[in-house]
Amino acid sequence: MAMSFLLPIYPPTQSPLHSSARSYRWFSVRTGSKPVCLAMTRAQTSGGDLEESVVIVGAGIGGLATAVSLHRLGIRSVVLEQAESLRTGGTSLTLFKNGWRVLDAISVGPQLRTQFLEIEGMVVKQEDGRELRSFKFKDEDQSQEVRAVERRVLLETLASQLPPQTIRFSSKLKTIQSNANGDTLLELEDGSQLLANIVIGCDGIRSKVASWMGFSEPKYAGHCAFRGLGFYPNGQPFQRKVNYIYGRGLRAGYVPVSATKVYWFICFNSPSLGPKITDPAILKKQAKELVSTWPEDLQDLIDLTPDETISRTPLVDRWLWPGIAPPASKGRVVLVGDAWHPMTPNLGQGACCALEDSVVLANKLAGAINGGSESVEEAMESYGSERWSRAFPLTVRANLVGSLLQWDNPLVCSVRDKFVIPKLVRLGPMLEHTNFECEPLYGSKT
Ligand SMILES: Cc1cc2nc3c(=O)[nH]c(=O)nc-3n(C[C@H](O)[C@H](O)[C@H](O)COP(=O)(O)OP(=O)(O)OC[C@H]3O[C@@H](n4cnc5c(N)ncnc54)[C@H](O)[C@@H]3O)c2cc1C
Repeated sequence: MAMSFLLPIYPPTQSPLHSSARSYRWFSVRTGSKPVCLAMTRAQTSGGDLEESVVIVGAGIGGLATAVSLHRLGIRSVVLEQAESLRTGGTSLTLFKNGWRVLDAISVGPQLRTQFLEIEGMVVKQEDGRELRSFKFKDEDQSQEVRAVERRVLLETLASQLPPQTIRFSSKLKTIQSNANGDTLLELEDGSQLLANIVIGCDGIRSKVASWMGFSEPKYAGHCAFRGLGFYPNGQPFQRKVNYIYGRGLRAGYVPVSATKVYWFICFNSPSLGPKITDPAILKKQAKELVSTWPEDLQDLIDLTPDETISRTPLVDRWLWPGIAPPASKGRVVLVGDAWHPMTPNLGQGACCALEDSVVLANKLAGAINGGSESVEEAMESYGSERWSRAFPLTVRANLVGSLLQWDNPLVCSVRDKFVIPKLVRLGPMLEHTNFECEPLYGSKT
């Protein structure tokens, strides 16, 4: 049986968060097992302006940050998320200063900062726990800011900035089709359909939107990661440092997140992706076996990890070779974050980069929608070329750093531990990629 519901749109100057005299206009969307209809994608404001309807696929970091950025610019979007709710499990992400610049630009930085410890530096150790080197972030760069942020809290904070009903859960995109006038027909798994004027694909590494645009599947990088979030009810015992332990073809790391939580990971070489394992007991056992002779802190941390936060992920990426990879947009469909440039987490930059994308895209789209000199298509192309020169080198660099750190040759590892790390490594150049001047949201209504 088909049913119908309403989507509000509002003029840029009257976002529901900021105006008590809300002036919604409503238009009908129908869904059902026999999909027939569709959202109107444009509506006329009382002042006669044209408004665009924007559909974002995926309520992850990229999707929500894009929706918030657009919302700050007075542009309403609808976010389709396949899951029934925001991802509540999962672990943490390390966000560097480029991520924080974006969170500040969209006005959620201060709220998040109060919940997560600022990390002062990093320590690199050998398998037996002996320290090889230690660094302080601010010694190299006064403006550096590093915090491990719980993914759940980040998602909830972003979602809380959006008007009610913006996120449509249990809405899994199934197919995409563009029509003659450039609008895009999105069909969901439940059979409902939506006609969108602008589509922003933020649907992560297995993006349906990206594969429709001709992107290849991401490639396995040869290593997998266990991750978890240790919980110390009486307070965690660690200094505010990222701790790295390097072995042969195996490395681990842990970093305090808050007064009671510590994020950890173990990265190990594996010729194949291996079976998908979700049983937390098996995951814990396997993780502990890998580092059974390593410092006890790590073993304790794994023991203190709640089941819902432990996971094992094969690491993948996709290199956006010029002339080979398709552009970031096709017509009025564009990609953000992992959907476009999945990268291995060796630089801790995937989410930071998705955040950067969101503000750059929102500014360009808002310019076009609000009658700037560029069309929406041109704005998306301009976003694609600006962001390609950022994302492609980062993806390659993250992969190469990963290969280097995962070396298992005993001679190479010995040179690394005796010479390269103690004598050669400098933190400044290593974190140079976190330099990103985040533009403000031009004409933000907040
Ligand atoms: C082991 C590991 C460690 C990492 N550590 C860091 C780090 O320290 N710092 C950092 O910056 N980054 C890190 N990353 C990378 C980071 O997790 C990603 O880059 C980031 O999550 C990308 O955000 P996204 O919004 O593009 O994609 P996602 O977070 O994957 O969100 C995609 C969303 O789309 C939804 N979706 C998917 N398909 C559909 C569909 N068909 N229909 C509707 N919805 C759909 C999904 O349910 C999901 O909610 C790490 C990654 C890994 C694997």
